[in-house]
Amino acid sequence: MISKFNAEEITVNGEKFEILIDESTIQKRVAELGEQISKDYEGKVPIFIGVLNGSVIFFADLIRNISINCEVDFLKLSSYGDAKISSGNVRLIKELNADIKDRDVIIVEDIVDTGLSIVYMKSLLKSQNPNSVKVVTLLHKSEATKYDVKLDYVGFQIPNKFVIGYGLDHTQKYRNLRSIYALKST
Ligand code: 5GP
Repeated sequence: MISKFNAEEITVNGEKFEILIDESTIQKRVAELGEQISKDYEGKVPIFIGVLNGSVIFFADLIRNISINCEVDFLKLSSYGDAKISSGNVRLIKELNADIKDRDVIIVEDIVDTGLSIVYMKSLLKSQNPNSVKVVTLLHKSEATKYDVKLDYVGFQIPNKFVIGYGLDHTQKYRNLRSIYALKST
C-alpha cells in the first residue's frame, strides 16, 4: 500500500521509524546544493559520480538542479548487506566507465557514516589522475565518522541513527519513500 509512504511514522519488521527530514525540506536543500555547485564549477564540465544504489534518488534530483554542463557515471561498492551498522570493510562491485583523467570529479553519496567508503573511493579515483575530486553527500552522521574525510558539500548533519527513504534502504526496500525516516529510539 502506498498510503504509508507519506505517513509521519511507519513500522518496518516491527520497528518504528519517524520522519527525520520531510520531502519539501529535502527538495529545498537539494536545490541549494545544486545552485552552489553550479556556481563553484562555472566554466567547467564536472563529472558526477553516483554511488549505487543509495544515491540514485539524490543524484537524479541534484543533477536536475545543476545549471552548467555536466556528465555522469556510476560506481558501486559492497554494502552493509542487511545490517544496520558498517561492516568495516568495503569492496568495489562496479567500476567507472568514464575516463576521468584531468576531469573535475564530484562524488555523490547518500550518506557518510564512518567515512570508510569515501576514503576508499577518493583514493581509487585519485589514482586515475583527475584534475580534482570533491564530495557531495546528502547526509552526514558526524558523530559516527571515524575517518578523516573532507566533505565539500553536505545536505544535512543528522544524529547517529539508522535512516531509510529517499534512496536509503532497509534490507533493499523502502528506497522509494519520499521523506527520510529515522529508527525511533526505544
Ligand atoms: P560509511 O562507509 O561512511 O561507513 O558508510 C556509507 C554507506 O553506508 C552509505 O553509502 C550507505 O550505503 C550505508 N549507510 C550508512 N548509514 C546508513 C543508514 O543509516 N541507513 C542506510 N540505509 N544505509 C546507511
